[in-house]
Amino acid sequence: MAALTEFEVIERFFRRPSGSATLGIGDDAALVALSPGCELAVSVDMLVSGRHFFANDDPESIGHKTLAVNLSDMAAIGATPRWALLAGALPEVDTVWLAAFARGLFALADAHHVELIGGDTTRGPLTLSVTILGEVPTGQALLRSGAKPGDSIWVSGRLGDAALALAHAQRQLALHIEELAACARALSMPIPRVALGERLRGIATAAIDISDGLTGDLGHVLHASGVGATIDLAAIPRGAAMKRLLSGAERELALRCLLAGGDDYELCFTVPRGRDSSLGDLARELGLALARIGTIDDRAGIVVRDESGRDLADLPRGFDHFAP
Ligand SMILES: [Mg+2]
Repeated sequence: MAALTEFEVIERFFRRPSGSATLGIGDDAALVALSPGCELAVSVDMLVSGRHFFANDDPESIGHKTLAVNLSDMAAIGATPRWALLAGALPEVDTVWLAAFARGLFALADAHHVELIGGDTTRGPLTLSVTILGEVPTGQALLRSGAKPGDSIWVSGRLGDAALALAHAQRQLALHIEELAACARALSMPIPRVALGERLRGIATAAIDISDGLTGDLGHVLHASGVGATIDLAAIPRGAAMKRLLSGAERELALRCLLAGGDDYELCFTVPRGRDSSLGDLARELGLALARIGTIDDRAGIVVRDESGRDLADLPRGFDHFAP
């Protein structure tokens, strides 16, 4: 079979009947109309083979994750994702790979009623980028800058599993076989907390998604809000593998995964103390664990109290792509 052209790749794998967009794939630009009373939320993310995923990862999970990281940004700002554009550099046109990638991408897109309205492909080292468009009622977006001293700090789900899977793959530690399944799933199939982000409008004073690790991402909120935080280590939600490792010889590395491991894609948000009780109801309604992990204070920086109430020295830092 002759190699597919760029146009044929888009036609075959990425063009689907138009949904909510006024004009979707196939013209020089797409056209969309926002719902009345909404602002446009826009974000772009790039995933590079060898850095954000491995080239031999399951292409269906790469498709999922490529979109999931963008949906997570929509969740973090309290927006409802609506449309996406995909740009990809591919080393070759591998139709089996592309079909699986598209399956993973569209399964998640369909679950969130997100429509792919445009894209571009070129030959090159495997790199994938999604631009996501969403909408949020005017003035109700969740910003990083609204945290106030006295607010409670909350996170969704549990932290550190994805980082443990990565540490296992890099042979820095060894997960038990039954632990590996849960951790590997957290790394390759993260669940963006879109419904939570939408429901936090009017409740959270600030929010961010944890893509680069709790201390690093919470640090962005603290910086933007001009406040500090005290975190209770024992309150940070964790899975079975993390519990085991924290009480063993690999505690140091496990702590780094819990506090500064990337790829969790959970939300970290702040809530005025008076609103704490409503979060229990919200957690039940969404079927999603929400944990209060600390308090915003007016002294700059992050303090993490360990299980015996002592301050953790040498707080691990979040992930920085440009760190040496
Ligand atoms: Mg983000």
